[in-house]
Amino acid sequence: MLSLKCSDAGFDCQHTIKGNSKEEIMNQAKEHGKRDHNLQDSDFSPELVNKIENLITESKIS
Ligand SMILES: [Zn+2]
Repeated sequence: MLSLKCSDAGFDCQHTIKGNSKEEIMNQAKEHGKRDHNLQDSDFSPELVNKIENLITESKIS
């Protein structure tokens, strides 16, 4: 199980995204960002995607 804390990406937010792959995390991060942080697809630049990928951590709690 992989997870990503929204706060680690710089948002004042307690949301944690969980998934089984980086692709799943990225898809959920985009959904969450667009729904809760008014982000657009164009906000997910290669730099931001890369930054988010580096913030994904392996979680042993399933
Ligand atoms: Zn958030």
